[in-house]
Amino acid sequence: MTLIQEKTIAAKVRSDFPILNEQIHGKPLVYLDNAATSQKPIAVLNALQHYYKHDNANVHRGVHTLSSRATDAYEGARDKIAAFVNAAFRQEIVYTRNASEAINLVAYSWGLANLQPGDEIILTVMEHHSNLIPWQLIAQRTGAVLKFVELTETEEFDFDHFKSLLSNKTKLVAVVHISNTLGCINPVKEICAEAHRYGVRVLIDASQSVPHLPIDVQDIDCDWLVATGHKMCGPTGIGFLYGKLDLLRSMPPFLGGGEMIADVFLDHSTYADLPHKFEAGTPAIAEAIALGAAVDYLTNIGMDKIHAYEEELTAYLFQQLEQIPEVRTYGPKPKADGSGRAALAAFTAGGTHPHDLSTILDQAGVAIRAGHHCTQPLHRYLGAQSTARASLYFYNTREEIDVFIAALKEAIEFFGSLFG
Ligand SMILES: *Cc1c(COP(=O)(O)O)cnc(C)c1O
Repeated sequence: MTLIQEKTIAAKVRSDFPILNEQIHGKPLVYLDNAATSQKPIAVLNALQHYYKHDNANVHRGVHTLSSRATDAYEGARDKIAAFVNAAFRQEIVYTRNASEAINLVAYSWGLANLQPGDEIILTVMEHHSNLIPWQLIAQRTGAVLKFVELTETEEFDFDHFKSLLSNKTKLVAVVHISNTLGCINPVKEICAEAHRYGVRVLIDASQSVPHLPIDVQDIDCDWLVATGHKMCGPTGIGFLYGKLDLLRSMPPFLGGGEMIADVFLDHSTYADLPHKFEAGTPAIAEAIALGAAVDYLTNIGMDKIHAYEEELTAYLFQQLEQIPEVRTYGPKPKADGSGRAALAAFTAGGTHPHDLSTILDQAGVAIRAGHHCTQPLHRYLGAQSTARASLYFYNTREEIDVFIAALKEAIEFFGSLFG
């Protein structure tokens, strides 16, 4: 089973990713920083080039052939994204620069219009800064109050604590689906159901789940969901907001400019229909089209297959890490079959500084992250200054995990002999 999966996915796809042939300090690259950004397959690189070589023109503006080709490709990518997350209507997908901008859009449009002094916003202590700071800013402007769901003993979303925070003061729940540090998979469907009993809106930060799991926004029943292209094989500079149609209709514009208008007068304007109301100015056309190519690429492999293969890698990664006594991982342990958490491991190794580990591993060609991974409050909550993080994607292999583990053991021994 394991071998077959590996042959059918990683072995088959690695040649689609030219960068995986890079040598780093004379060693083959082992790229384990996928939670920060994923690598891009040829199909995505080609889509970017093809657009600029053959179709480049502004969208929605001209009647000439190039403009209609560009518009068709740009809007076609929206259809692909809508199908990918099973949105009921294509107008429910709004292009943004990234997940951060999508959250800011909701915060400034819906938040400023709907939040009153004393209203409560429920977040969690594990939120990425992108799903924290916009709400801090909006709370400061409106007088709304932030509440934080804490963690269970296994360092996961504490559902009982969540339920105890919900009340008729709550106006919004904004929660990460998969934590980029803990790797826990939060029960977003149950969170939405519970919040909706109070008539509370729910925003899901799906930056780490859309690239790795099949996502169905209608099944989750979230009010908004955000994701970012560059973590799902797409380019930087493009992400999207999903929102329920009536809700998006009710929200005022966020940014003003061209593209988002119906009629403009000197003293007022009327706005375009969804989704254009939220897409001011010339968008990232090539990037949106290339994100569509990324969605095609992932769909062709199959998100369920990607998820199943990543579970196998997760099981193997944790088995290996658990054999190193100095290593302490964060978040829930995977089940024996690798299910129950995401394919990433944030960890510390005794007293060795994560930045030193990352520097030494880089010498062995292994790219891992060190720092707070944009979850500084979570690190404070866990009592860790910083952690190292290895994060996998479907093109990674067991052999790469072996290279990582061997380099990690050497680094720990080296620093142990210096300071121990
Ligand atoms: C990466 C990430 C974000 C932000 O993505 P950007 O592309 O930087 O906007 C938000 N939340 C989580 C959980 C992430 O991993």
